[in-house]
Amino acid sequence: MATTKKKIAVMTSGGDSPGMNAVVRAVVRMSIHMGCDPYCVYEGYEGLVQGGNFIRKMEWNDVRGYLSEGGTLIGTARCMAFYERPGRLTAAKNLILNGIDALIICGGDGSLTGADRFRAEWPSLLEELVSTGQLEAKQVEPYKHLNIVGLVGSIDNDLSGTDATIGAYSALARVCEMVDYIEATASSHSRAFVIEVMGRHCGWLALMAGVATGADFIFIPEKPREDNWKEEMRQVIRKHRDWGKRKTIVIIAEGALDRHGTKITPEMVKDLLADKSGLALDTRITTLGHVQRGGTAVAYDRMLATLQGVEAVKAVLEATPETETCVIAITENKIVRKPLMAAVQETKKVAKAIEAQDFDKAMSLRDTEFSDQYKSYMMTTTMGLDQDIHLDDTKKMKIGFINVGAPAGGMNAAIRAGVAYCRSRGHEPLAIHNGFAGFARHHGDSPLGAVRHFDWLEVDGWASKGGSEIGTNRELPEESGMELIAKLIEKYEFDALFLIGGFEAFHSVSQLRKARAKYPSLCIPMALLPATISNNVPGTEYSLGSDTCLNELVAYCDKIKQSASATRRRVFVIETQGGRCGYVAILGGLGVGASAVYIPEEGISLDMLNADVKHLKDVFTKDKGQSRAGRLILVNEKASKVFTAKLIADIIREEAHDRFESRDSIPGHVQQGGVPSAMDRCRAVRLAIKCIQHLEQYGPKPQKNPEKIMNDPLSASVIGIKGADVVFSPMEQVEENETDWKNRRPTAAHWLDNKEVVDILGGRPPYPLPE
Ligand code: ATP
Repeated sequence: MATTKKKIAVMTSGGDSPGMNAVVRAVVRMSIHMGCDPYCVYEGYEGLVQGGNFIRKMEWNDVRGYLSEGGTLIGTARCMAFYERPGRLTAAKNLILNGIDALIICGGDGSLTGADRFRAEWPSLLEELVSTGQLEAKQVEPYKHLNIVGLVGSIDNDLSGTDATIGAYSALARVCEMVDYIEATASSHSRAFVIEVMGRHCGWLALMAGVATGADFIFIPEKPREDNWKEEMRQVIRKHRDWGKRKTIVIIAEGALDRHGTKITPEMVKDLLADKSGLALDTRITTLGHVQRGGTAVAYDRMLATLQGVEAVKAVLEATPETETCVIAITENKIVRKPLMAAVQETKKVAKAIEAQDFDKAMSLRDTEFSDQYKSYMMTTTMGLDQDIHLDDTKKMKIGFINVGAPAGGMNAAIRAGVAYCRSRGHEPLAIHNGFAGFARHHGDSPLGAVRHFDWLEVDGWASKGGSEIGTNRELPEESGMELIAKLIEKYEFDALFLIGGFEAFHSVSQLRKARAKYPSLCIPMALLPATISNNVPGTEYSLGSDTCLNELVAYCDKIKQSASATRRRVFVIETQGGRCGYVAILGGLGVGASAVYIPEEGISLDMLNADVKHLKDVFTKDKGQSRAGRLILVNEKASKVFTAKLIADIIREEAHDRFESRDSIPGHVQQGGVPSAMDRCRAVRLAIKCIQHLEQYGPKPQKNPEKIMNDPLSASVIGIKGADVVFSPMEQVEENETDWKNRRPTAAHWLDNKEVVDILGGRPPYPLPE
């Protein structure tokens, strides 16, 4: 792609955020791969203004180990000089003197505003540099157009035009972890906690933490509560306490306001909760502060930062003088380029709308996920209080909830949200315990039968629980006996089924759908919410639990890498789960910087192993001990019947002739995760509510009109994230066109392109593919 060798500089600016190091690594290595010279500007704009040693050429090995480090290793600063033209003039001069052709900036909206200003002024800055004799005309000639690309690094997730900023999900993970800890002590003492989180103009962290933890009440700047918020809060919390909740959690963004622009402080909220004439709760305040910025990046941020860093280099190289300056964004699951200026201006509009107390506008300027999540949150916490959304009796439905397949992070959160939504609408949610096997074998009417009412108090505590509280099982309905299942659905008068699970759940819906012609009781709507760590369910690019799994895998690999650095030069061959789907291996490889990844989609050949072993030998020969961290190879459990992780490790050891070592390691079920990730929890809530909303369109007693159900393709559907959209796809269509039944995975693997990125950034040489 690169026609001439370019010098590409990368810098991090504004507040640090986890994932910035992954950006630097990706930009440096991708630049080298594209035949360019990478540079780092240390200390943000300050380094650009200071020049000298602040602008340094980087080598491939300079960024080793960057993925697992928190903060930003090349430093960041708030730079007053850059706000003024003389500062920017010096910065321009430094760029030209260093021969830098392009600048990739990772920072928040302030940093990107600075970048935009710099770009707009660039021609006049060059003119001034020449007219004041600081540079000669021929010196500036090759740099007529400033090639800038922005990446959004911010824990606030406050930039318009992108669903996620680099670092936001890591900060959210930290917030949720802290709230989970606080909940334990709150519950022990039956206390209330007011927890303040970051976000001056943006309530994303507070909102998502509220969704993920099931907090009792939240305050965010974009959507202040109604004027009677004190009474509303008292009522909601009173109701939750009446249900028997022993803990009360209120999350407040630091920029929380009332509808008149008056700040709502944690102290005000505490006083209300503690008020002796009201709730009289023993209340404490916890301000999370900089903990939220700390720690290493979660797997999602490493993936986002890496893919966006790579995209930024491509954007730089494809830019022409006419190309509009872009910022790299993500919409649902798709990395996209957007005009930088528009994104910055839209972002500023949010703050202005809040200032002008135009809160509807502020909400409308946030992305769809934000408003979706806000609605989800409100529906799951004000249950029964909000009479507006209560259905009349003729519309209420009996909905069966069932988990199928292996447990996956977020299954419980999905059930909790689905049940809460049902309650607020007046539906009757029923748990079918232990999958179809449980349903078929324990259908007596004893309280321990498979079909049970949900105990709300118990379910309310499921937001952060791993595993499957209602039990799950891999058995398919045909194995349990389709006739029996059909009879049981009739017996319990289910009007709809909500299934949560992996490929077995997908297969179950397929079987139930096909059996409708024979068993009319199956003519009820069914919605599948994919949940499996393998992320191999057709009809979606993301399954609940896959994010939790990647976080576990990445954390495991980080530890292994560290242990390797403490001993000798070592290669670890790590076996990942995922069935015949290489998603976990590839995305894990992206998050840990694997030297090679083996997946079932490609298989493993001797040529491949030869090439990789040769490469490792080269690497260890050149490595004079300056970087002792170990190297990782990830191999999916079904990549090859013959070449297991152990065998690959043995081959490498044999070939290494004591110049380096090799070990295999199998994290196994650790990958199912303990506490589900914040992302899985939030997405579980959003998608589960959408599923119930989809089901409730059909109304009660759908079996009375079986033709209607049979003729409606969406009456058996799978919800999924596809590219930039959340969609329901008809099962029939997905089964026929999008499913590789033999290999139990989707026919198209949207994530397969990422393998090339893992290979490029891991320095892996191209190898011959198996015949
Ligand atoms: P965070 O979201 O963490 O606050 P940020 O990038 O918004 O990150 P800022 O402190 O606003 O952080 O900006 C970082 C730096 O970008 C500033 O110190 C300044 O050097 C530069 N900058 C910000 N706004 C402008 C501007 N309007 N003109 C020129 N430079 C700017």
